[in-house]
Amino acid sequence: MSFDVEAATAAYIDGLGEEALAQAAAYTTGNQWLMLWGLLISAMVTLIIIRTGWLTKTDDKLSKRGFIIRVFSISAVYLVVSEVLEMPWSVFSGWWRETEYGRTSQPLMDFLSQGLLALAISALLFSFFMVAIYAFIQKAKKLWWLWGGTFSGVCVAVLMVVGPTYIAPLFNDYQPVPPGEVRDAVEAMAINAGIPTDRIFMYDGSRQSNNFTANVAGIGGAARIAISDVALDEATLDEVKAVTGHEIGHYKLGHVWDGVFLTIVIVMASFFIADKAFNAVARLFGAQEDIGDPTTLPVLLFLVGVIGIVTQPMSNTLSRMNETEADHYSYEMVDLPDGMASALVKTAEYRNPRPGKLEEWLFYTHPSVEQRVRAAMEWKASHPEG
Ligand SMILES: [Zn+2]
Repeated sequence: MSFDVEAATAAYIDGLGEEALAQAAAYTTGNQWLMLWGLLISAMVTLIIIRTGWLTKTDDKLSKRGFIIRVFSISAVYLVVSEVLEMPWSVFSGWWRETEYGRTSQPLMDFLSQGLLALAISALLFSFFMVAIYAFIQKAKKLWWLWGGTFSGVCVAVLMVVGPTYIAPLFNDYQPVPPGEVRDAVEAMAINAGIPTDRIFMYDGSRQSNNFTANVAGIGGAARIAISDVALDEATLDEVKAVTGHEIGHYKLGHVWDGVFLTIVIVMASFFIADKAFNAVARLFGAQEDIGDPTTLPVLLFLVGVIGIVTQPMSNTLSRMNETEADHYSYEMVDLPDGMASALVKTAEYRNPRPGKLEEWLFYTHPSVEQRVRAAMEWKASHPEG
């Protein structure tokens, strides 16, 4: 009797139970609505900041200062003010709702204090970034979007070098995987793939999230693979190996570089479109029709945000292709399709494993769990002896 791929796939997904599947669907669809509501909120915040003239007042106070100080201060004031205005929404969507769905156990105070730290870091980086953008608008005139997009790619690459070593440890504790069979297996896989064994970490992902997850971050010497303690606690040895194989796949196939190039393309396109649409949208908000005026920054960022959402299906499609490749890498490397399938089923709590085709195409950064489990079962069917 031959192995039935469809039946094996269905068994994995149905094994979650109707209630869990319904909850995962509600959570995932809710996330998609949150994105649209978030856009509405950011439109309101943009309107408030423009109409109150807070940024123009900041600019007036600094009229005797140079360009860099002025743009830096306006950007920092904007970021802090908009974050404060959006705080009720952030607490609702990022903490309260996550808690309700059992996706996080983080105390509110820890959520807020980490948010404050993130705001301090992002205000600093964002404000330097905006100084460069307005310098491009002034110097390169009509071609500023070309410079802006390239510069964004450089910034993302720099963050990928600095982030894993200097920023991520401010939010989580990264440690070597504790000694034992899991560590032995993971180290053997790293050696096999030519990755220094000190580049694989375990981190206290449980601090922020109950999600079963692992990731690759960084480029060059800063690159590392990190597995959440949630995954390490819940996973069988085969599941850890299958997931580590997937992450090693991302690493070896250079997928982080795709992120850098995609950033350049999307940011360039966003800046280009924002440049063309700027005056019309500025009029709607009652702002100066002058993209080179840093006090109109909320309008520029709102436009970039809208374009970011519209272009998401494009970046999601590339991401899904990379995820499929990484899964395949894992099968080639450790040949554990059942380990992968059972690990994937554990991630279904936070992503509906059976979305509609259109929903998957629009919103999913990974192929649906059902698709990936089916691919695992197809691999199993075509490699019966392992
Ligand atoms: Zn992946």
